[in-house]
Amino acid sequence: MPRIAKWLGDTIENLLDSKFPLLTVIDVRNITDSIKRITFQGEPEVSAFSIGSAVLIRVSDTEYRNYTPSAYDAVKGVMEIIVHVHGSGPGSKLMNHLRPGDVLRTSIPRGIGWYRETVPAYILWGDETSLGLAYSYHSRFVQQGNAFHYYFELNEENREAPAHLGLSNYTVFKKGTVFNNPALLNELPVWGFPENETTYVVTGNVKAVQTIRKVIKTMDKKGRILSKGFWLEGKTGL
Ligand SMILES: Cc1cc2nc3c(=O)[nH]c(=O)nc-3n(C[C@H](O)[C@H](O)[C@H](O)COP(=O)(O)OP(=O)(O)OC[C@H]3O[C@@H](n4cnc5c(N)ncnc54)[C@H](O)[C@@H]3O)c2cc1C
Repeated sequence: MPRIAKWLGDTIENLLDSKFPLLTVIDVRNITDSIKRITFQGEPEVSAFSIGSAVLIRVSDTEYRNYTPSAYDAVKGVMEIIVHVHGSGPGSKLMNHLRPGDVLRTSIPRGIGWYRETVPAYILWGDETSLGLAYSYHSRFVQQGNAFHYYFELNEENREAPAHLGLSNYTVFKKGTVFNNPALLNELPVWGFPENETTYVVTGNVKAVQTIRKVIKTMDKKGRILSKGFWLEGKTGL
């Protein structure tokens, strides 16, 4: 639902007030010049957050965009997102100008859980838009002792973002060099786990997601793949 008439958006939000809570920005941190961590505070609520959930944020009178809570505490009513500000779309514009005290409408988190503690190994692939998801997994991996590794393709200016976020076990490639190249993907040292034991989580650019999925399917026929394209060149608000 990237775009909707203003009157309809207002009506839906009023009818479903508990599903579209108002959240106040309480903190904005620059991780790099184009990546921000934004913390919101709302009413405490009972909705359950699970890793892999997303929220739909109203970014203008008529536009909605998806973001991934990187941290969520329903009891305290606190949610964090990690946002890539990449251009002049309404989502990026809004996120770039948010300041503490600003108030936004967002949906409650929706989507099924993408984490099972019984899975021994996780390999995650993504770009700047996947950092929130990567962050939400990280403390779980460390607590539960899962084997894990992150592969990121990032713009040069964002190379240090995983380190600034406190992530570990990651490899960063320059944007556009590996994720659309099956031959290079085949050579990565990720295919060593026994079949059936690895979950592959693939998000970010749609074309990269499609290429990586194909390679995983040929290299590990029994691995579980969880994937979602987060953005596509020339397409607004997936
Ligand atoms: C389930 C889900 C979860 C998501 N979680 C996050 C998240 O946690 N953090 C986050 O930053 N994004 C996340 N995204 C991606 C985000 O919703 C899109 O990047 C969205 O297009 C941003 O809206 P916009 O208004 O800034 O740009 P739009 O108006 O949607 O797009 C304007 C132009 O920018 C291009 N564009 C969009 N995204 C990018 C990008 N990342 N890099 C370069 N060009 C781009 C579009 O193709 C289009 O040409 C998620 C998407 C989905 C579907």
